[in-house]
Amino acid sequence: MLLYNSLTRKREEFVPNVEGKVSMYTCGPTVYHYAHIGNLRSYIMEDILEKYLRYAGYDVTRVMNITDVGHLTSDADTGEDKMLKGAKREKKTVLEIAKFYTDAFFADCEKLNIKTPDVVAPATTCIDEFIRVIEALIEKGYAYEAGGNIYFDTAKLKQYYVFNDFKEEDLEVGVREGVEEDSNKRNKADFVLWFTKSKFDDQELKWDSPWGVGYPGWHIECSCISMKHLGEYLDIHCGGIDNAFPHHTNEIAQSEAFVGHKWCNYWFHVHHLNTNSGKMSKSSGEFLTVSLLESKGYDPLVYRLFCLQSHYRKSLVFSYENLDNAAIAYKKLVAKIAALLKEEGGAIDQAVFDERRAAFCAALDNDMNTSLGVTALYDVLKAKTTPATKLALIADFDRVLSLDLIETAQKQKDAEDAAKATASDDPFIREIEDMIAKRAQAKKDKNYALADQIRNDLAARGVTLIDTPQGTNYQIN
Ligand code: AMP
Ligand code: ZN
Repeated sequence: MLLYNSLTRKREEFVPNVEGKVSMYTCGPTVYHYAHIGNLRSYIMEDILEKYLRYAGYDVTRVMNITDVGHLTSDADTGEDKMLKGAKREKKTVLEIAKFYTDAFFADCEKLNIKTPDVVAPATTCIDEFIRVIEALIEKGYAYEAGGNIYFDTAKLKQYYVFNDFKEEDLEVGVREGVEEDSNKRNKADFVLWFTKSKFDDQELKWDSPWGVGYPGWHIECSCISMKHLGEYLDIHCGGIDNAFPHHTNEIAQSEAFVGHKWCNYWFHVHHLNTNSGKMSKSSGEFLTVSLLESKGYDPLVYRLFCLQSHYRKSLVFSYENLDNAAIAYKKLVAKIAALLKEEGGAIDQAVFDERRAAFCAALDNDMNTSLGVTALYDVLKAKTTPATKLALIADFDRVLSLDLIETAQKQKDAEDAAKATASDDPFIREIEDMIAKRAQAKKDKNYALADQIRNDLAARGVTLIDTPQGTNYQIN
């Protein structure tokens, strides 16, 4: 399985630290607002990665934090804590909004069929862990106290900027807002591990520490939560591409300083969802949520399909026109599967099953090429094989794609069957079906004149016949 690794800037063969097992860490949401569909693009693609690893036979343990403290509006060390800003906006406490938006995040994930990670840890529940690691970093000479805050000393590292293939604008994210210099820092790139002094002294949640009452920096939480649950050797770390700098860069700096060796082998970064007017962000610009899409009549799984149709390492432009195309594609897929469910299943052809499964795996083994994975699904529908083989393959691929294909098609078929059952009580419908049967017989008898006459008679009564390979359908105009 090839996976692009941001650290080496190459597609590499994926080899976990322990054979058959994968440890995976995901940066969780900052719960000061709803997740927008850009954030959720990252979580959908990470979900696919996790599910594909499981599908490929790995025993995966996935951990995610919930950022409920310390993420400042600049992503770096300046600005207000986003949680405090959210609480002020809504005139609630930080813990109240954290609970509300954490629940909202998981409700959105459920609608998008994003699996909840094995461990979900809010940062505010791990403060002792952060203090322990910061103390060790001070002891090892990697951190220093200045002006009341504890900073990580980046000059102590051989190399600080590890993800240097990113574009300037991605790196700038970290210093976008509030670019004031912090005179306490020994080096420009140093970052805060623990704040006791901040210009926003109304920080709501504070804890006692060896350096005074304060709160942790954002970066330390992911390092500590990951190491607490997944140990010193991490296989895969995920996040949106804006997290590469400064967040992941700082995570690597402090984690490796703490453990004294390489920490994480593979870095999986999902590129951004943008709108025509630019990057989607929680604090500015267009704010599109799953609920908004639902209120406009879109099934959340249509958005999932929309994401799967593009590669995770390409930025993706959201437009309603593009989403409409995904909605049409989803509807067609479901209709085709519903038609398969109506056919005589037959037996599963194992050779075809294996061949098609290999095509699906080849797509995902190639750096999670989900769009080719979806193509492999279309190829199954076109294949010359039994409906049972096709349905088995669709169910199998959907363990990864999670588009609820069979379930939705089954519901559609049931609804159609129910509508038919109701219609069969109607004398007009019975007459139409009777005439369709007579026309089929006339065609068999090569009495085309009678067949045409029946069609014309029905047309005159507002009934259009539609011939398909599965038989004749009709539409009452
Ligand atoms: P946040 O809640 O701001 O901490 O972000 C949650 C996740 O969404 C992080 O992994 C971000 O990197 C990611 N993210 C933020 N904006 C976007 C976007 N426009 N497209 C895709 N992922 C994003
Ligand atoms: Zn993180």
